[in-house]
Amino acid sequence: MIYLDYNATTPIAPEVLVAMLPYLKDEWGNAASTYRFGAKLKSVIEEAREKVADLLGASPFEILFTSCGTESNNAAINAALLANPAKKHLITCETEHSSVLSQCKALEKQGYSVTYLTVNRDGLLNMSELEAAINEQTALVSIMWANNETGVLSPVEKIGTLCRERGVLYHCDAVQAAGKVPINLSALPVDYLSITGHKIGAPKGVGALFIRKKTPFTPYLFGGHQERERRGGTEAVAFIVGLGVAASLASDRVKLYSHKVAPLRDGLQMSLLRNIDGAEVNGGDAPRISNTLNISIKGISSEPLLLLLDQAGICASSGSACLADSDEPSHVIAAMKPGDNACRSALRVSIGVDFEQKQIEIISAHVRRCVMLLRGS
Ligand code: PLP
Repeated sequence: MIYLDYNATTPIAPEVLVAMLPYLKDEWGNAASTYRFGAKLKSVIEEAREKVADLLGASPFEILFTSCGTESNNAAINAALLANPAKKHLITCETEHSSVLSQCKALEKQGYSVTYLTVNRDGLLNMSELEAAINEQTALVSIMWANNETGVLSPVEKIGTLCRERGVLYHCDAVQAAGKVPINLSALPVDYLSITGHKIGAPKGVGALFIRKKTPFTPYLFGGHQERERRGGTEAVAFIVGLGVAASLASDRVKLYSHKVAPLRDGLQMSLLRNIDGAEVNGGDAPRISNTLNISIKGISSEPLLLLLDQAGICASSGSACLADSDEPSHVIAAMKPGDNACRSALRVSIGVDFEQKQIEIISAHVRRCVMLLRGS
C-alpha cells in the first residue's frame, strides 16, 4: 500500500503508542480522584500540556485538551460569540473545513449573520474584502491557517493584526498547519487556535484548543471541574499523553517539512504534470504547506480515478475525508474555480515525512495508467 492521505489522518507514531500503553493498561485511574492511583495522573496531563504549548509557542495554561479538531473549532466559535452576545455577525471563508462551515450554517438558523469570504483561483482570500466585511456587529473572524484540500496558507499574521485593530476576536483552525509550519503564538495576534492529534501521529479522539490568556472562554462541554473548569468530562489520560508525545515529535520534525517534504512534493507534482495531459495544480501559485498537492485532471472524475488507484494499492482522496461519503464536488475547488469542472476532478495527495523519492515515479505511472484507462486510450 502507498498511503497518500496524511491530511485525512496519520498513523500513530511508534513513540506515541509506547508512551500511551501504560495509561491504557496499568495506570487506568481517574485523574480527578484524590487517592494517589488517580491523582498522580494530573502531573502526566500537565507534562503533555507543556509539550503541546511548546509546539505552539504558547503557555501551558493557554492549552485546553479537547476530543478533536472539530470540538476545538466549535468551542472557540461558541466562546467568542458568547463573549459578545450583542454582536451577531461573524466572518469566515468559503474554503473552510466543514467543522467551521456547518457550525456557521447552524448559527445562521439561530439569527446570526455570516460573511463567507471568497477566494481567488489560487485559493487566497482578499484582505480588502475581509477589511470591508468587519462591522460593528462583528464578534469573530474564523479563518484557517492551512487548507486541508489544497494546503494553501492564509496570511494569519495580517488577519490577526487587522482583527486586533478592529477589536474583533480571531480564531484560527490550524489542524493542518500544526507540525508542518513553525507556529509561535507568543508573537502572533491569534485569540483561539485549534489543533488535532490524528494529523500529527497521535490517535484519533484527542485535540487541543489554544485560548490566549485573558481571552473570554465559556465551556462548550459543561460538567465537572476538569481542565480548570473549562471542559467537563473525565480526562482521556492515555490520549492526552499521546498528543503530548506527538507534539514533541512534531516540534522536532517541523524543519523536515521545508527541507525534505517540500522537494518530494514538488518532484511528484512535476512528474504528474509531465506525465498526464490536462493536469493542473489547484493552489499551485499560492504559498502552501509542503506535504499537499491537489490536481484536477481534465475530463476525469475523482471517484472512478480514486477507485482504480485504490485497486492498485494507492490511498488518495478527492478532498476532505469528512465529506468523502457525499457525491458533492469539492466546495474548496468550486470556490477557487467557479463554473469550472475542476471541482469534480480533484485528486488530493498528502504525504508524510517518511515519503520516499522512489515512490514518485511509481505513483505517477499508476495515475497515468488509470487516467488512460478512464480515457479509453
Ligand atoms: N479542520 C481541518 C482543517 C481539518 O482538516 C480537520 C480534519 O480533517 C478538522 C478541522 C477536524 O478535525 P477532527 O477530525 O479531529 O475533528
